[in-house]
Amino acid sequence: MRKLWMALVLMLVIFCTGCTAQNAGTEEDGLRIVVSAYPAYDFARQVAGEGVQIRMLTRPGIDPHEYEPTPQNMIDIENCDIFIYNGGESDVWVDELLKSVENDSMRIIRMMDCVTLLEEETVEGMEVETEDHAHGETSEEYDEHVWLSPVNVMQIAGSLCDTLTKADPENAETYEENTAEFLSALEELDARFREIAANAKRTTVVFADRFPARYFTEEYGLTYYAAFPGCSSQTEPSAATVAFLIDKIREEEIPFVFSVPYSLSSLPQTISEETGAGILMFNSFHNVSDREFGQVTYIDVMTENAQALARALN
Ligand SMILES: [Zn+2]
Repeated sequence: MRKLWMALVLMLVIFCTGCTAQNAGTEEDGLRIVVSAYPAYDFARQVAGEGVQIRMLTRPGIDPHEYEPTPQNMIDIENCDIFIYNGGESDVWVDELLKSVENDSMRIIRMMDCVTLLEEETVEGMEVETEDHAHGETSEEYDEHVWLSPVNVMQIAGSLCDTLTKADPENAETYEENTAEFLSALEELDARFREIAANAKRTTVVFADRFPARYFTEEYGLTYYAAFPGCSSQTEPSAATVAFLIDKIREEEIPFVFSVPYSLSSLPQTISEETGAGILMFNSFHNVSDREFGQVTYIDVMTENAQALARALN
């Protein structure tokens, strides 16, 4: 009896170490997918389905803009069949890592290669990003937040499906079915955003924070004002920026300003107190918390963003 008990405990220990928070799927001999961050994790999971092993290199709960890669990340990439990353400012460390990885059979998907890119903009009133605030070589070039347009995610999903079916033709039918289901959820989401934008009282949004929603506002024909561009790490806006945003909010009677996750700025609060505008969260889906990992999907987050948008525009 005691032996059986010990064996059970041992099995439990092995089982638990095998499925740390960053893993999904348990099939050792199936397709092994490694991703840099949570958007790619979720999209891969939608296309691959529950049975496929997906490992995320960054951890849940952290601001990916601040991530430093570890030696384990390299080992993970060397042992995978498919590697998916975004290719922008927040995972700029991937390029360095890929140079030293030895894995000839691996297929690589860069999400930014799947869509039409837009440049990061500095619009009127916005803080100009200075050199020492810039994160990587790609800053001041293309905006990295491609996944915030559901239309872009449709293209990314198509590319993921192609790659998975090539890497694992035996399960092609499953991947195609999963992708079709994901695409129809994305189409529904896209229609919802179009409907909100078309029936809204106004078309201007104000981000009293960094601005990850370039692809999003472009897709749905919205005008925006924001304190800081893209992935900017600045938190202290100039008096001119604060004054500009406050004036805009008063002039256009904007009822809500947006804040984004991992914000270190007190600006949303300041502007809210000054103007009486409420604060809403626009979730950039850069990452999720430990508790939400593997549970919260892109569709969930964007559905919440749709509710927030409907309030902000009316
Ligand atoms: Zn970012």
